[in-house]
Amino acid sequence: MAETKSTCPYCGVGCGVIIDSEGPQITGVRGDPDHPANFGRLCTKGSTLHLTAAAAVTRQTRLLQPMRRLQRGAAPEAVSWDAALDSATTRFAQVIRDHGPDAVGFYVSGQLLTEDYYVFNKLAKGLIGTNNIDTNSRLCMSSAVAGYKQTLGADAPPACYDDLKHAQCLFIVGSNTAWAHPILFRRIEDAKAANPALKIVVADPRRTDTVEIADLFLPIQPGTDVMLFNGMLHLMLWEGWTDARYIAAHTTGFEALKATVRECTPDKVAQVCGIAKDELLTAARHFATSAATLSLYCQGLNQSSSGTAKNAALINLHLATGQIGKPGAGPFSLTGQPNAMGGREVGGMANLLSAHRDLANPRHRAEVAALWGVPAVPAAPGKTAVEMFQAAADGEIRALWIACTNPAQSMPDQATVRRALERAEFVVVQEAFSTTATCDFADLLLPATSWGEKDGTVTNSERRVSRVRAAVPVPGEARDDWSIAVDFARRLEQRLGVAGPLFPYASAESVWNEHRESTRGRDLDITGMSYAMLEAAPQQWPLKEGDSVGRARLYEDGVFPTPDGRARFVDTAYRPVAEAREARYPFSLNTGRLRDQWHGMSRTGTLGRLFGHVAEPVVQLHAQDMARRQLQNGDLVHVTSKRGSILLPAQASAEVGLSQAFIAMHWGGEFLSGCSSTGTRLAGVNALTSSAYCPSSKQPELKHAAVKVLKAEMPWSLLTMVWLPPDAALAAHRALKPLMALFPFATCVPFSSNTPLAGSGGAAGVERAGILFRAAAHDTPSDAVLDHIEALLGLQGAETLRYADRKRGQRRTARLVRHGTDAVLEGFLLAGDTRAEAWIATLLREELPAQGYGRLLLSPGARAPVAIQSRGRPVCTCFNVTDVAIRNCLEGASGTPDERLAALQGALKCGTNCGSCLPELKRMARAAVGSSAEALAAAP
Ligand code: SF4
Repeated sequence: MAETKSTCPYCGVGCGVIIDSEGPQITGVRGDPDHPANFGRLCTKGSTLHLTAAAAVTRQTRLLQPMRRLQRGAAPEAVSWDAALDSATTRFAQVIRDHGPDAVGFYVSGQLLTEDYYVFNKLAKGLIGTNNIDTNSRLCMSSAVAGYKQTLGADAPPACYDDLKHAQCLFIVGSNTAWAHPILFRRIEDAKAANPALKIVVADPRRTDTVEIADLFLPIQPGTDVMLFNGMLHLMLWEGWTDARYIAAHTTGFEALKATVRECTPDKVAQVCGIAKDELLTAARHFATSAATLSLYCQGLNQSSSGTAKNAALINLHLATGQIGKPGAGPFSLTGQPNAMGGREVGGMANLLSAHRDLANPRHRAEVAALWGVPAVPAAPGKTAVEMFQAAADGEIRALWIACTNPAQSMPDQATVRRALERAEFVVVQEAFSTTATCDFADLLLPATSWGEKDGTVTNSERRVSRVRAAVPVPGEARDDWSIAVDFARRLEQRLGVAGPLFPYASAESVWNEHRESTRGRDLDITGMSYAMLEAAPQQWPLKEGDSVGRARLYEDGVFPTPDGRARFVDTAYRPVAEAREARYPFSLNTGRLRDQWHGMSRTGTLGRLFGHVAEPVVQLHAQDMARRQLQNGDLVHVTSKRGSILLPAQASAEVGLSQAFIAMHWGGEFLSGCSSTGTRLAGVNALTSSAYCPSSKQPELKHAAVKVLKAEMPWSLLTMVWLPPDAALAAHRALKPLMALFPFATCVPFSSNTPLAGSGGAAGVERAGILFRAAAHDTPSDAVLDHIEALLGLQGAETLRYADRKRGQRRTARLVRHGTDAVLEGFLLAGDTRAEAWIATLLREELPAQGYGRLLLSPGARAPVAIQSRGRPVCTCFNVTDVAIRNCLEGASGTPDERLAALQGALKCGTNCGSCLPELKRMARAAVGSSAEALAAAP
């Protein structure tokens, strides 16, 4: 048994974890009580990390040896590391020789460690001589980078988590903190509990769980944030709430901005943003007049065609009111990924250089060239994410190296991305998981280490650098990302005849030491930090040589890293979203995170437990939009943009506004089928999204695409669910994936029996693994297809009951296994008519006695026997508490929402472990009070 301190690999909160391991196996994970980001807490994702690192998962989904594909479409074959890296070197050297260094591109990831990032950046810009290196962080926070630099002079979030304790007003905008940064949200809840006078304003097109804690909710129309902020500034000026002294002493450019916001009258803002004027006034008052206002913002601002302007307009408010550089105040951008900040620090983007230097600055280029020992760093800006894949689709970039990211799922406009991956002459995918959609396009697959196996550092949203440590030996032949890049770089050095060695690193620490030196004298100076110091405790930057502790808060002296030391107001004019809604595409499609999933789900998608909260892909619509289109929950709809179309069930949601639609960002081709506007098979939600991007940050507008929603007529449908051993469930999921392409609509997801999470204090049980495959089509598929699905899911043998009517397209299969004197349903398939889904799925999921249902199971259209009632949808994943149980318990409770919540938690324990479900529990408690009051009012 061993314990290893490390950092959670998911979101930018950067929680510290303690990994329990036994030999080669990670056996448990818990929050590190000493880590200043989380003080021992973990959310649902973090607290299940050990389950997603289990041996069954590693064996089934991990890439464990280098693989080469001799022909596109063929199965890859195992090769040695030498052969793999030699072939990569030969192909890259050839492309560079024949077409120049800009014919290659590197697309990396905010989930790489800082050391990995550093080496890739030096490889591209220092050795090869191209700035074509960009990262999935471009999709996540490049607007925040540009916003900070334009206004404050440097890419440095000035606030820290501790500021939550000091704030008197929290302005949360474009961030579903409750789901995307759950542990930070726990700290917001703590701050509100400690200081009930704390005003919380949430602005968002969706009424998310974050709104649960708000004193004021501004349900703005998509993309209208700049108008909102300018309107708030208009009112602040009118009411005399700006800080003239701060503006005069510490800023420039206010007069030009004043002229712009003069036009943003309350009437205009109310009309453009779709909010009431008095709410606008209240928001402006809270923001400007509180003793300390802290803004928290994320993708709602960043993923926009005017993302930089949105960031700058919000920072304008802080500068105009002096709400910066003091405890509890400042514009605080939350990073989505665990190391988006580290990538920024090493300049791992197409327009940046090491240690927050600018590629466009000749002095900065010369400094970096000297540091690296190369003659020069190229001046021409590299291709950013969208540009890079467009250039590959156009044949301009011929060789691509993709590391630790899944662009065939996560990039917008998948038609172009897939054309790029197909057209590129040579595609290297360096990955921990073999299951990502991008792996299908790789000529060379290089196995990388993952969480729990690698060593290095990450930086979280509050500039805090934490150590990431290996707890178990590396599986198979996987290697650390930095080490793969170094090995390749050394071979390329020789092939290109470059005098070296430019990459003399023996360890992650030696890479980090070089990065540290690059920061000397810069705003993020970490020359006083060391691995040894980080062993003791994570540290915030800057932390200069001679300092013993980093700086929690920036700009307390009112001096900014600009040539004149003053912050700059940016004249931010409002621009609407790039793709206007129109008669043919009347909905605004928004995308975002689910509570329990992470990005493309290569890790979280292996665990049925994490599908308990949201089990399958849906498009959420306003109830009135559903009614107008005569849609019921579960009806299949075509969601279509100018780029592609996907089919998925509609679901009425109180979170979504009129003429808006929401699909979670996680649903890629691994879980959902789809096609492009030209009929090419595509995958997932990003078949629809737009690659229109912000002109300054080049971050694409993933938060809005104009779409239409039309009811789909699919007379034939299929649902099959089975329990399988964990290894077999993962294998079945992989085997079913190609079959999804046979149906216009298909989804394939794991599920589980959701026993309480070990370590939560609940009565642990044996968690079972299941697979659900759902499809729909115009016509009945062949028997061979259905036979194949049944074979993959083990729906065969003597225990399997069958009914088939080929003429009517009906098939029923049920596998009943004896348990004592009764039997339980181990799997079923309903084809043709799936109306009996509700009760049959309940019978299976809840492992109820099924002996008495044999004949009904095989009867198409058979009605639900009264006796079968579902336990409901899990809300609390830790203790497996369902919505039905919660409602029942709340009905029996009395008092205020808080009192009912306390009673609920006392009775069922829900929300008392990781707390991720707390916002939902509070909403349910409030609804229970509301419904009781209504019931009383209606009573005679
Ligand atoms: Fe990981 Fe959750 Fe913490 Fe984010 S909030 S770092 S996902 S445990």
